Amino acid sequence: MARTIYGSDALPLDLLAIAAHPDDVEQTCGGTLLRAAEQGYRVGVLDLTAGEMGSRGTPDVRLREAAVAAELLMLAWRGNLGLPDARVEASWEAKCALAAVIRRLRPEVVILPYWEARHPDHYRASELGFEGCFLAGLRRLELGAEACRPSTVIYSASYAYIRPSFVVDITQQFERRMQALLAYRSQYADQPEASELFPTEEELRRRLEAVARFYGQMIGVEYGEPFVIKEVMRVDDVMKLGVPTF
Ligand SMILES: [Zn+2]
Repeated sequence: MARTIYGSDALPLDLLAIAAHPDDVEQTCGGTLLRAAEQGYRVGVLDLTAGEMGSRGTPDVRLREAAVAAELLMLAWRGNLGLPDARVEASWEAKCALAAVIRRLRPEVVILPYWEARHPDHYRASELGFEGCFLAGLRRLELGAEACRPSTVIYSASYAYIRPSFVVDITQQFERRMQALLAYRSQYADQPEASELFPTEEELRRRLEAVARFYGQMIGVEYGEPFVIKEVMRVDDVMKLGVPTF
């Protein structure tokens, strides 16, 4: 059962991002989440693990930091599924646990990590997320809430090194996304512990800026976040594509 770490539990969401570790969404799609919240949508995040295998910080500290980041991202809800860090698997139990959360939150759109990644938890989170959404819609599967399935799944592709299907302009949200990431003080505040594994705060900022600028320039803005969809986007009015060719 997911543990609520921020916000109210009794609500339907418009948009839900699912990620393996606390602080993943802050690095990949946090600007898009914040922008959606500013547009009036109810936005949530489900972290699958508490990141207890990380070299820095304890699970309790990271959950508290995730709640602070949730507030900065204007989330309506953030929860943690409590799966074991570094051992995320698309097991039947994990899929049903995730499906039960989907049924409770009823998101219209779900953001998953891209399906190929260096970290096994990341690509397994993608698989688990997709299958959890699928199972949530099976009426005959007893999970204690009415069956429902998100209408659209999109994949966050910030570190996938592939051509995105579309990029969201996060120029206005970039700095606050940075602050949300830096809310994970146990991970990113400059400190001697595991300093060979972690970038300094200044280096972290430069890396995130470089990635966001790279995708931003694809759509002619300062900062962007990339996404991939498996389906083809439908267009009803070619005059409103909003794609600058020159
Ligand atoms: Zn991660």
